[in-house]
Amino acid sequence: MTPLDHQQILDHLSVGTVVLNSRLEIVFWNRWMSEHSAITLDDARGRVIHILFQGLIKKDFVKKAREVFRRGQPVFFTNKVHQTMFPFYAGRSYIEPALKPMQQTVILSPVKNDDNRVTQLLLTVFDITDWIDYRDRLLQSKDELEKLSHTDELTQIPNRRSLMEQLAQELFHHNRRKRPMALAVIDLDHFKEVNDRYGHQTGDQALFEVARTISDSCRNYDIIGRYGGEEFVIMLPDSKREQALATCERVRQRVENNKFCHSRQAMRLTISIGLACKDAQEKIEVEDLFQRADAALYRAKENGRNRVETDC
Ligand code: GH3
Ligand code: MG
Ligand code: MG
Repeated sequence: MTPLDHQQILDHLSVGTVVLNSRLEIVFWNRWMSEHSAITLDDARGRVIHILFQGLIKKDFVKKAREVFRRGQPVFFTNKVHQTMFPFYAGRSYIEPALKPMQQTVILSPVKNDDNRVTQLLLTVFDITDWIDYRDRLLQSKDELEKLSHTDELTQIPNRRSLMEQLAQELFHHNRRKRPMALAVIDLDHFKEVNDRYGHQTGDQALFEVARTISDSCRNYDIIGRYGGEEFVIMLPDSKREQALATCERVRQRVENNKFCHSRQAMRLTISIGLACKDAQEKIEVEDLFQRADAALYRAKENGRNRVETDC
């Protein structure tokens, strides 16, 4: 193959290819480089690469290039660390209205002669913009999916799975650091009647509004969630009994006083709450705390509903 054949092959590559001498002057570059830089090979030849592209100096290019000459090992400039090495636009820009900076991976490889001495460098520029776009979109969908898998669709508050995960974590830390905390289990009163009287759809709307009323009545570091059908849970980190009781009472009153709308008619709802408290010294398992809150809730129902009962 003649040198011209080599050049033709390189001109057909969809990656940037540059040959540099020991003074880092451009000996050759392919058509890809000319197209992206708008500088012909004739104009580029003999120019020092980091003077032509001054941004390279900030990326430690000169030091790295000398290292390749000295050590005979290739170096990589990854997109993550060095961002855009050359001020090019992404390859797809010509079909997209907005020009996008090209995300790149750049490799600087030694070219050795027969004595194994590095005489030139081969620089290759890969356009990885599409790949980075796909990756970002994938990461975004992963975040959205994760959020969906932790959110209750109807009420838009954390679902049971998320709640149980957080509760286990919080309880572990509160047990270990000897901090008080409380758990309230909430059940809507006579909710079957609401469904029977107004229809299931109105029941759903009421659940959404109750969830909002509960979260509006809590501190922003309290953790609330939908535990089941018309049952909610509030976890109150660092709360002693009196504080937790006051919060529960506030929640109960807000629900009682709220007018839930149904076809322009106001509808009243009430809730019963069972509260279990772990004092600072106590070490307790999730199941036991729940059992105590459930027993208190049972008593709240037994004692007439629309009330808060505690586990002592
Ligand atoms: P109590 O005061 O004893 O709690 O009476 P209740 O009628 O609320 O009885 P219970 O808690 O056993 O009944 C729960 C009802 O909640 C039954 C079910 O129809 C309704 N429910 C559960 N999940 C949903 C839901 O997602 N949407 C609607 N609309 N209703 C639900
Ligand atoms: Mg129930
Ligand atoms: Mg109920």
